[in-house]
Amino acid sequence: MDIKDKIKNIRLLLLDVDGVLTNGEIAYGFDDLELKTFNVKDGLGIKLAISAGLKIGIITGRGSEALDKRVAELGIEIFYQKVRNKIIPFEDVKRNLSIENEQIAYVGDDLNDLKVMKQVGLKCTVADAAEDIKDIADYITKKSGGKGAVREVIELVLRGQGKWEQSIENFLKGDE
Ligand SMILES: [Mg+2]
Repeated sequence: MDIKDKIKNIRLLLLDVDGVLTNGEIAYGFDDLELKTFNVKDGLGIKLAISAGLKIGIITGRGSEALDKRVAELGIEIFYQKVRNKIIPFEDVKRNLSIENEQIAYVGDDLNDLKVMKQVGLKCTVADAAEDIKDIADYITKKSGGKGAVREVIELVLRGQGKWEQSIENFLKGDE
């Protein structure tokens, strides 16, 4: 199937965190404190996507207060953390939303994303991803993880669905 047709089917965008929403670096502080850096352009993209009716979810192997905070800030309701096998929450989301593989896009960057990526309709990855992931991807972002790669995928999907302009209008209205 042509990537343009794949994009038209998408209703849910699932995201990995480390190496996708972040550059993959983890800073440790005192006690169990973990620090991560997120990208504001990704954040605005996620808000645009939600306002355009595209569902956003996160499935990550790690977990941290920094991530809890970011997820709450962006209004992301589908959120699975400290996941060993990502297929389990993936199946859970599909059941809960009554959604098919073809309607799901996934952005991952490393081997723990491979199983889920093989299932979904639109396989996306980042410029600095592991080669095995790049090999199966429908779309590789020009941006690296944590540097606006998620924004790039969201623009790709919303533009491909003819929803980009409207999503900006909706977003700006909500800002007034
Ligand atoms: Mg990752």
